[in-house]
Amino acid sequence: MTQALVLNATYEPLCVVSTRRALMLLLDEKAELLQRTSRLFRSEKVSFAEPSVVRLRHYVKVPYQARIALNRRAVFARDGHRCQYCGDTAENIDHVVPRSRGGLHAWENVVASCRPCNARKRDHLLEESGMRLRRPPAVPRQRTFILVASGAIRSEWEPYLGQVASTSLSA
Ligand SMILES: [Zn+2]
Repeated sequence: MTQALVLNATYEPLCVVSTRRALMLLLDEKAELLQRTSRLFRSEKVSFAEPSVVRLRHYVKVPYQARIALNRRAVFARDGHRCQYCGDTAENIDHVVPRSRGGLHAWENVVASCRPCNARKRDHLLEESGMRLRRPPAVPRQRTFILVASGAIRSEWEPYLGQVASTSLSA
């Protein structure tokens, strides 16, 4: 099933919906078409350009944090499936401040980690372990949310997501 990126009235990425849903937003004049694919979406009587990016005409207020659930898939997407200690392929989720030491299960305290680093760090604090983080973990950008929702980022969505590198969840 093809999907379309929905932007808020402010051009901030909001969500990913089915092409059919995006078409409904356009036909109901709730959204405007920004990018189309080269394909046509046909109904019985008419055919439409298949939408790829649409923008809502009216601003929708959505709490940013609420849209990005902290789970394994989302952490891996944020961290590019790389261990945040050594850069190897990540297989685990590691709490930087271990939960046993009062660390929170929060975006700022969770990183993707390879098995050896995860085992090496155990219930140590970062400074006790002598290990280093490649970058401090943070609440992910909108891009991660879109990636988790859709599985991949389409090239025509890139200009609206604010970064250049193209990534995929299957990488
Ligand atoms: Zn590692």
